[in-house]
Amino acid sequence: MNLKRLVGLDTLAEQYAYGEDPEFGHVSASRVADRWVRTTCGYCSVGCGMLIGVRDGRAVAVRGDEHHSVNRGKLCPKGLSEHHTLDAPGRAQYPVLDGQRVTWDRAIDVMLERITAIQARYGKESFGVISTGQLVTEEFYTLGKLVQLGFGTRHYDGNTTLCMASAVSGYKRSFGSDGPPGSYEDMAQADLILLIGANIADNHPILCQRLLENPGATLIVADPRVTKTAMLADIFLPLKPHSDIALVNAMAHVLIRDGLVNIGYIERHTTGFEELRRHIAKYTPDYAAGITGLAPDVIERVALLYGRAKAAFIGWTMGVNHSTQGAETVNAINNLALLTGHIGRAGAAPFSITGQCNAMGTREAGFTSGLPGYRKFESAADRQELASLWGVDASRIPVSRGLAYPDIIEAVLAKRIRALWIIATNPAVSFPNHGVLKQALETVEFLVVQDGFHPTPTSQFAHLVLPAAIWGEKEGTYTNSERRVSKVNAAVPPPGEARPDFDIFLQLAGRLGVQDELFPGWQTSRDAFEEWKRVSRGRMCDYSAITYEDIETRGGVQWGGERLYADGRYPTDDGRARLFAIEWQPFPEQPNRDYPFVLNTGRTVEHWHTRTKTGGVPILQGMSPRAWLEMNPRDARKLGLKPHDRVTVESSRNRVDNVELRVTEIIAPGHVFMPFHYVETNSNLLTQSAYDPISREPNFKQCAVKVLRTDQ
Ligand code: SF4
Repeated sequence: MNLKRLVGLDTLAEQYAYGEDPEFGHVSASRVADRWVRTTCGYCSVGCGMLIGVRDGRAVAVRGDEHHSVNRGKLCPKGLSEHHTLDAPGRAQYPVLDGQRVTWDRAIDVMLERITAIQARYGKESFGVISTGQLVTEEFYTLGKLVQLGFGTRHYDGNTTLCMASAVSGYKRSFGSDGPPGSYEDMAQADLILLIGANIADNHPILCQRLLENPGATLIVADPRVTKTAMLADIFLPLKPHSDIALVNAMAHVLIRDGLVNIGYIERHTTGFEELRRHIAKYTPDYAAGITGLAPDVIERVALLYGRAKAAFIGWTMGVNHSTQGAETVNAINNLALLTGHIGRAGAAPFSITGQCNAMGTREAGFTSGLPGYRKFESAADRQELASLWGVDASRIPVSRGLAYPDIIEAVLAKRIRALWIIATNPAVSFPNHGVLKQALETVEFLVVQDGFHPTPTSQFAHLVLPAAIWGEKEGTYTNSERRVSKVNAAVPPPGEARPDFDIFLQLAGRLGVQDELFPGWQTSRDAFEEWKRVSRGRMCDYSAITYEDIETRGGVQWGGERLYADGRYPTDDGRARLFAIEWQPFPEQPNRDYPFVLNTGRTVEHWHTRTKTGGVPILQGMSPRAWLEMNPRDARKLGLKPHDRVTVESSRNRVDNVELRVTEIIAPGHVFMPFHYVETNSNLLTQSAYDPISREPNFKQCAVKVLRTDQ
């Protein structure tokens, strides 16, 4: 029976929703669900609401939740096929110790014996933990407490440092706290939208709906590549890599020069204006043109459009964050919003578009760059408040943050960290300068990898592998980019002996002897949520009035309301936001005679991060089976290369062979681009160990390479 003809379905989403297999064009009875479980997408931070179709205990379909305010029924290709991740090949099913299957009891015993022995010998802080924005908030909160109060180490960070740390640091410096000020709705209400280093058409596809809802807005896209998002723009700014600070400073220069700043707002709500004004006097459009490669009159025009807009929105993602000046670039962007008062009003916001489904939850629940509820390590009052809430002595709460992710890896190499626990992330593909990372994974005394899949490029280094549940198999909450807390539900049980991360953390706490003190009576993630509500009460990310049931019925709840800072008061000592005088600096590894190209790395819509999940989904893998290298036709001609040639990309650190060449005007002469998803042709063999000194985020976006035919 052709169900599509019967009910008039015509989209991929609808085909999936009703059980038709779009690959074969007919209804597969095995894909018709007999119940639907409401949840939230487990990939990107857009946070689309969806329903998982279950039949005979298996997830057989996914469809968009038409009542969810984020996506109103729509899903992108990853979301539409997400149920396939649950029974994809390579799911981790039982604990593995030194290559042998063991029981959970044995795995937990060995893990604790080894870690506590290392801590006894080398100190508590010889143990480091790297987690992920893939956990639900309840798990992240539980894990942080277990690591810092139970195991007594501060050296705990998440893979979110490879992604959003620059936005976090930038917000803290400008506004006194993390927390994206705006909402998706602002994209629909702005009369000017400026996207910087944000290819949302590939990386946050459903957000593009907001652009389509606002055809009257002027869309300006600044990006070194002609991305799919750039193709949607009214004005495309093909700026040179890493030159966005010069562009934004020059815009601020024009705004001040032409009196398009909001002096009343500046005087009432900011500090640092005079210093900024003096600093950017030199950032004339002519001066910035020399850095950005944009024409001075284009910079001028864009500045005037921004300054004259009634409500202007600036969004950014990894093109800004993945930089040695990521946090400062965020400050320069925030300057524009503060100078003009384009913040805290409908349509007006500076807005980081986050990476992972729950990167935001990790930021709120803390224990990495801050304490839970955006509290500060360095604040005695914050530490005391937490200690009282937890009923522990305040001396047990660290007074400063532990090492950030890259510094944990460095500490492993320096043998200051001897035991490492990696949870639901795959640094063997995602971490820059793979050679350094590999050495750390090979030499650490004890490595535990907890993941929903095994083997992964990272888990194959592990002494101990703990099998974990993934999206669709556990309960909790995610927070999306616009601070919307949405419910995540289990549709099916995890495979084999795999367990939700939450259960693993509680089991460890029990065996460590800290469960009664830190997690009294806890059994489910709802118990963690109830404590998190108390801990976040009165904070910016206040969950105290939120219930699981409320989230379900309302399609998510935004903490802080639709937008922050509507009253112009900021969580700084004096209630004012800070304007920063930011100097542009060239990126660290410039092209040279031996390595003449600038390599840019990024993503494609079909895949997620290191393909641990999407690599096992046939429809996605079939759409994008291998990596490619984009090169401008002029460069290809000079090198005698043709489309589809197999090329080797080489930096001073390593080389990647057999990459398919795409010859395209999408990329400017002198630049090449490669997606980072593919372990077989791992772009992070080429990237460098260069980090933002403020946020510690890697400079993934530029390194110097050469390109030659692979058989040369
Ligand atoms: Fe999932 Fe993001 Fe796609 Fe929405 S846009 S379906 S959240 S991957």
